[in-house]
Amino acid sequence: MSSSTSLHALGSPWIQFCHCGKRAPVKTSWTGENIGRRFWACEKYGVDDTCGYFVWLDPPTCARGRELVPWLREKIDSLEKEVAAAHAKEKNYSRAMLFALLLSFFFLFLISLVK
Ligand SMILES: [Zn+2]
Repeated sequence: MSSSTSLHALGSPWIQFCHCGKRAPVKTSWTGENIGRRFWACEKYGVDDTCGYFVWLDPPTCARGRELVPWLREKIDSLEKEVAAAHAKEKNYSRAMLFALLLSFFFLFLISLVK
């Protein structure tokens, strides 16, 4: 089955089927000249290349894109780490606040016994 046949068979340029007859997922290249460039490939691409189905979705990455994509990717990774750290910190604060609340209820209970 050629890629153009599968393109028109379903009427959607987003659905491609590999030579195994399975839907080929859209993947993104993160290497060298093609960084950020999407492609369809067999789900076994990179693990078992017997199918060999591979079709570029995007045109070649321009020079500016090759410069920007790694920088943006690094920035996203950095921000994701910051968000994860902030979530962990927030969780610790929530636990501390709950503990302080329970402790204050306990002291209020003790004070009520004294009277
Ligand atoms: Zn396949």
